[in-house]
Amino acid sequence: MTDSRALRQFLKMMTASGISHLPTVTLPKPAAAPGRQLANRLKGTDPAPRQAPVNKSGSRTRLMSPDRLAPSSAKQPEIMETTHALLKQTFHTAEQKAEGLSTLAEAVTACRRCTELADTRRQTVFGVGNADAEIMFIGEAPGADEDRQGEPFVGAAGILMDKIIAACGLKREEIYICNILRCRPPGNRNPHPQEAANCREFLEGQIRIVAPKFIICWGTVAAQNLLRETRPVGRLRGQFLQHGDAKVMCTYHPSYLLRNESAKKLVWEDMKFFMKKLGVDLG
Ligand code: SF4
Repeated sequence: MTDSRALRQFLKMMTASGISHLPTVTLPKPAAAPGRQLANRLKGTDPAPRQAPVNKSGSRTRLMSPDRLAPSSAKQPEIMETTHALLKQTFHTAEQKAEGLSTLAEAVTACRRCTELADTRRQTVFGVGNADAEIMFIGEAPGADEDRQGEPFVGAAGILMDKIIAACGLKREEIYICNILRCRPPGNRNPHPQEAANCREFLEGQIRIVAPKFIICWGTVAAQNLLRETRPVGRLRGQFLQHGDAKVMCTYHPSYLLRNESAKKLVWEDMKFFMKKLGVDLG
């Protein structure tokens, strides 16, 4: 038992015994959980430790002062600097990848590069799934459900996505899922080009850490932004394109399928084409 916990119990016992006029004692605050410390520093509510922790390679991680990491717009370059430093590391194991994603996600929570989105979002929606996945799904941007739950592809579109995943014999836990943007555009409007450019570094970070063999872009916005294309998804589907080391297939967004029942057949054709590349014949 720690000294402070023992002291708390002692004071409680004395009070219960009817002894009043106890001296006022200021107890030290319990230390924040390690996972929260970076987030707190980014929010400027927790002082940085005096000495940086040792990372897996045995060297010390460079830390910034809480003032430099405060989430005002003037501090945004420092958040990107943190991201750059993280992305100079290499990620080989699933554990290293999960840790890298977690650190990047913490940095994103303080991002205010897109002022309108940062002012209107409930929370950032970073990404979810297997950090060591061979398949990555990229959507457009968080909608209302995602903004509320903090997870991409939930709500009606997410349920349809789950059905597509199951029909392919895959599991959501095998896949890593994220979006072009990490904040919801108000009214679910399309991301502005500048917003997509602002968030590109985080997306590329996720791709670099997970290092998927395959990427599926869901919808025109995802396809055009990832591939720097101008053609709509209808002209990009039915082939494998390349992004870095990953082969990229494009198909329609589940939200579009909810409005256009007839497009479901096209997506199923795309998924059969995709799974065939993985050696699975869906008929
Ligand atoms: S969309 Fe991306 S770049 Fe823009 S504020 Fe959100 S996290 Fe930052």
